[in-house]
Order: sequence, then C-alpha cells, then structure tokens
Amino acid sequence: LNRRLQGLGTTIFAEMSALATATGSINLGQGFPDTDGPREIAEAAARAVLTGQGNQYPPGPGIPELRQAVAEHQQRFHGLAYDPDTEVLVTAGATEAIAAALLALLEPGDEVIALEPFYDSYAACVAMAGAIRVPLTLRAPAFRPDLDELRSLITPRTRLLLLNTPHNPTGTVLTPEELTAIAALAVEHDLLVVADEVYEHLVFNGVHHPIAALPGMRERTVSISSAGKTFSFTGWKVGWVTASAPLVAAVRTAKQYLTYVSAGPFQYAVAEALRLPDEYFAGFRADLLRKRDLLADGLEAAGFQVFRPEGTYFITSDITPLGEKDGLEFCRSLPARCGVVAIPNVVFYDNTEAGRSLVRFTFCKRDDVLTEAVSRLRRL
Ligand code: PMP
Ligand code: GLN
Repeated sequence: LNRRLQGLGTTIFAEMSALATATGSINLGQGFPDTDGPREIAEAAARAVLTGQGNQYPPGPGIPELRQAVAEHQQRFHGLAYDPDTEVLVTAGATEAIAAALLALLEPGDEVIALEPFYDSYAACVAMAGAIRVPLTLRAPAFRPDLDELRSLITPRTRLLLLNTPHNPTGTVLTPEELTAIAALAVEHDLLVVADEVYEHLVFNGVHHPIAALPGMRERTVSISSAGKTFSFTGWKVGWVTASAPLVAAVRTAKQYLTYVSAGPFQYAVAEALRLPDEYFAGFRADLLRKRDLLADGLEAAGFQVFRPEGTYFITSDITPLGEKDGLEFCRSLPARCGVVAIPNVVFYDNTEAGRSLVRFTFCKRDDVLTEAVSRLRRL
C-alpha cells in the first residue's frame, strides 16, 4: 500500500456489515434500506435488460435519457438549469463522482476544507489526489459549522471546499444563511466547491438548499447526487454530477479512466425514477421521518443522548450517559452484548476527541426491525 493510502485500511462499513453477518445482528450500521425502492422502477430495470437497453457499453457521459432526467430534476426541485449534453455527467454512484471530482480538480499539495466528521471516502479520495484535508469540525450538541473558524482555515493553498448537506453522520442541514456565508468565502478566495447532496430528498423541516443556486456559485460548484438513497436502490450505483461545462468536462476526463461508464440498464430505470410524481418524494420523506422518531425515542428510552437529525437517515447519539466513553470499543462489542450493529463516528474524525463517544445508527429499516433493535438496546 502506498504512503498516500496508509492508515485507510478497510472501510468501517465493510468491517461492521461483516460483523453483523457473522453475529446475526440487526445491522443499523451501513446505510442501506431493508426494503427495495418502487416496484415499477425495478420493473423498468428488468425491462431494460430484457429488451437490450444498455446491455452494451452506454455512452461515457451517461445515456441521454438519464442526463435529460437529471437536468429536469434539478429544475423541478431546485430551479437550477443545466444543459443535459454538457453540464450533466452520470457516474458509478456518488462515490465515483466524489473521486473523479477530487482527482480532476486538485493538484498535489492543495488544501481541501471538509466538514468533519466526514464521509470516509472523502479522506481517501483527497489522499489519492495527493491533497491535504483540513477539517472544519462540527461539534456536539448543535453540529453547526463555525464560520469564523472556516475563514481562519483558509490559506493561499486552499483550493476546494468539500461540503455535505444534509450531512452524514450528524444529520445537520446547512441553512440558507450558513450557505450564503460559505459561498461568500468561496467567491472571495476563489475556491471550488464540491457539494455532496445525496440526501437532498431527506430533509425533515423545510427543504434542501443547493449552494450552486447562490450568486457566484454556479461556475465554481460541482453538485453530486445519487439514486441509491432517494430511490432505495443502493446496489445499483447510479450517481450524477451537475456543474458548468468546463467543470463537468474536467470530472468526465477523470471518470473516463476510473470506470469509463456505469451500468447501462439501471440508467434507464433511474431516468424513470427521477420523473416520479411529487407524492413519491413526499411519501419517502414522511416514512423516514416517522422512522427517525421511532428510533430516536427508542434510543432515548435506552439511555443514549440523541441528536435528532434534521436530514439523512442517520442518528448520531452519545454513549456517555450509558457510562461508556469509547464509541469504537462500544460498536465492536455491541453485537456480542445485544445483537445490534452501529457505526462509531470517531472514524470520520481527524480530531478524534470530538467524536470519541459518538455512535451512529441508521433508521432506513422496517419498523419491526427498529422496534426489535430498540428493545435489545434497552437491555444493555
Ligand atoms: N456521500 C455520502 C454522504 C453518503 O452517505 C454516501 C453513501 N450513500 C455516498 C456519498 C455514496 O453514495 P453512492 O452509494 O451513490 O456511491
Ligand atoms: N453511505 C453509506 C453509509 O454512510 C455507506 C456506503 C458504503 O458502504 N460505502 O452508511
């Protein structure tokens, strides 16, 4: 393993999902639903395979139908206009979009400021690009970004802000005021922004605000999303980038040599999914909101300090009230103690002190599974 990747080992999701399988535990760790997305969308994928749509290499930038549907989605939900031919790129999930964007836009030695805790692939991709990550720590209990601190972190070597809203794992949703202040700094210091918005449809109060919509931001922002979360098909790995034509061209250059293209038939199905009526998106959100409260109430009853998320399908909790200190040890022992798997937030931190006692649970599971997990946790 080269020096850039030292210490990045096995992802926590692989470790904890393997532990869940090995111990037969309820897996509230890795964020994937236990119920697949809409039947008609699954049928669209099957139909595409059987009718020979996308069974051979699809076009590199993604099939035109999907690029058109992504552009329509950005207009419909965010009022953002993108040209499907030059300003939309289909990727192998948001994961590839993040990797391709960072590999395309960073020079070795560039500094990238990212909200900490950060999704684990950010650290790995910044490292693979030879760049340096600079954390802006979101601290309990509010997990808001300190904008004065952000200003103080910007140096002449800062090239890019890596944002994630709604934020995994804290559930923070950046407000229009916070985004406006961040955008002003990006413009003042001529920074690029990569905005990971995979949970854009999981905001429980109000709506998601894309930073690309703010003045001066369209030409410097790479927005990223994915079908995995919104349509509950995480295994399909269909994601996309929207940005100005020069930025999309840069990301496409890197993407060409990472995967060249992503799975063809699923692209046809996701094009249909993006055109589902508003009721689908509202129903999905309402369902997850109910599950959030089911799990949050249960965790509170079990003695955790719960930070009820504004968005995403994750709850960050603090184990200190249970007389525990170390989230990593806690998560490694939890399957044997009570048959539940969770994710220790500390792995998403450079400032490990800020995350040591925090543990993340996902609530994208059936109600009976959440109820059973809570009753097991109450016996701790
Ligand atoms: N970004 C964040 C914040 C995530 O939580 C995830 C996990 N879905 C991803 C990116 C990766 O998305 P995908 O599965 O589409 O690659
Ligand atoms: N995004 C998912 C999570 O945060 C995990 C995806 C993965 O395993 N890479 O749980």
